[in-house]
Amino acid sequence: MDPVVVIGAGVSGLAAAWSLHKHGIPVRVVEADDQVGGVVRSTRLDDGTVLDLGPQTLSTKDPDLQETLRQVGLGSRTLSADPASGRRFVVHEGKVVELPSGPLSLARTSLLSTGAKFRLLGEPFRKGGGPVTEGASEPDEESIADFVRRRLGPEVLDHMVDPFVSGVFAGDPEQISVAAALPELHALEQEYGSIVRGGVKRMQAARKEQKEREAAGGTPEERPRNRILSFDEGLQSWPRAVADALDEPVLVSTRVVGLARAEGDAGGWDVRIAREDGGSEEVLHAGAVILAVPAEVAARLLAGLDAGVAQALSEIPYAPVSVVHVVHPMDRVDHPLDGFGVLAPSGEDRGILGSLWPNAVFPGRNPKEQAVIANFVGGARTPERAMAEKDEILDMVRRELGDLLGLRGDPAHQRVTRWPRAIPQYTRGHLDRIREVARFEEATPGVRLVGSWRDAVSLGGCWATGARVGTEVARTRG
Ligand SMILES: Cc1cc2nc3c(=O)[nH]c(=O)nc-3n(C[C@H](O)[C@H](O)[C@H](O)COP(=O)(O)OP(=O)(O)OC[C@H]3O[C@@H](n4cnc5c(N)ncnc54)[C@H](O)[C@@H]3O)c2cc1C
Repeated sequence: MDPVVVIGAGVSGLAAAWSLHKHGIPVRVVEADDQVGGVVRSTRLDDGTVLDLGPQTLSTKDPDLQETLRQVGLGSRTLSADPASGRRFVVHEGKVVELPSGPLSLARTSLLSTGAKFRLLGEPFRKGGGPVTEGASEPDEESIADFVRRRLGPEVLDHMVDPFVSGVFAGDPEQISVAAALPELHALEQEYGSIVRGGVKRMQAARKEQKEREAAGGTPEERPRNRILSFDEGLQSWPRAVADALDEPVLVSTRVVGLARAEGDAGGWDVRIAREDGGSEEVLHAGAVILAVPAEVAARLLAGLDAGVAQALSEIPYAPVSVVHVVHPMDRVDHPLDGFGVLAPSGEDRGILGSLWPNAVFPGRNPKEQAVIANFVGGARTPERAMAEKDEILDMVRRELGDLLGLRGDPAHQRVTRWPRAIPQYTRGHLDRIREVARFEEATPGVRLVGSWRDAVSLGGCWATGARVGTEVARTRG
């Protein structure tokens, strides 16, 4: 049987490849870079400190993914976040302030005025429904900012949601579509007319279901809990281990440069590949193809097959981010760094989007006398900062850390990792673009698309989409 060719060995592509492998379908993964993982990249310094140069944590409650980690030999190498690192901070009026984690701390928080807290209490009684253009078949794609202002009030947007959108999407809440980027939140309003009421009803329904199962003599199934994970050698251990567990090694340093329907009766696809060392081009014959590449690469590869899908894919914007690591003697940092990290709302106008504190999240992985601080610079609102001169970025980050966290003296190590096209932005109109991709897939059996630009940017979400599509393709080939 001709193999399924997966183009791209990021988390999305490897998830698809792993599903095919588990279903016994031959699979060949082609990767342009000289290593697997895509933006998931880890390194170890001479003193043993592990740095994640792209994403920092994997958040998941997917039991299949956790089973995969065991199957690929990462069971004992998986690290779970220390519960003590659950505290999250934001910058507020120039100071680092803890985010409320429950109703009591929300009532007490200094982040919101009394008026804003009362407005929050009124959310369940506020009428549902976003803007609708006259004559349109569905409600308009509302921005996260408009949605949050309408339901929860402007202060919740400015002080709590805006930094979250920076932290997850490096994005601008005025531009990102709530239905595309936060579909569960959006669905609560659509279904129940209120986020709070919907959240409570869902929780009650889950409890009722659990009780009924227990009453019927069923085993008290534990509801999957969310876990925040990494690995002893950093996050890249995961794509590396998945790639190593496939039957065929990933073809690294090999770029896909063309895709065409194979001629002849057998059908299938011709995938044209070029070695990065400049060798001659070759053709891989594929029974089916899964593109797991950034949107603009998929647009180029599909341009000759379908101009509509290529146009839709090319319209998905990306935000640049630089990840700036500062490793600093702990005794010269005033803040105890006792939490997950700090995010900066845009209204605070800081040079950084936020900082994460991996040593608090995964204690024991790194020497504890050094503070490891992973800072994020740039994003959709300040893209030029991500691409500034390296020294300029380092000076700015150290100034900000001095001011916010009380860093004194020189760092032991610092490093800038640039991601010019880091995170796809699900701006308004995203759902239409994805519908166009789905239309193309429907019309083109044997070609599927996955990637962070599609359903979810998170690692867990990318894995879930890749795994689902891999399984669907396996069923058509089985
Ligand atoms: C700085 C940063 C921080 C992040 N932080 C987090 C976090 O803490 N937690 C979280 O859950 N998510 C985080 N994310 C998001 C998450 O890491 C990504 O959304 C996810 O890893 C994307 O995976 P992917 O496989 O879809 O794409 P990619 O990782 O981009 O993989 C695509 C692959 O395709 C390859 N490719 C491209 N063109 C070709 C070609 N022509 N032929 C062959 N191969 C090709 C590329 O080399 C690449 O390996 C972060 C992202 C970034 C950039």
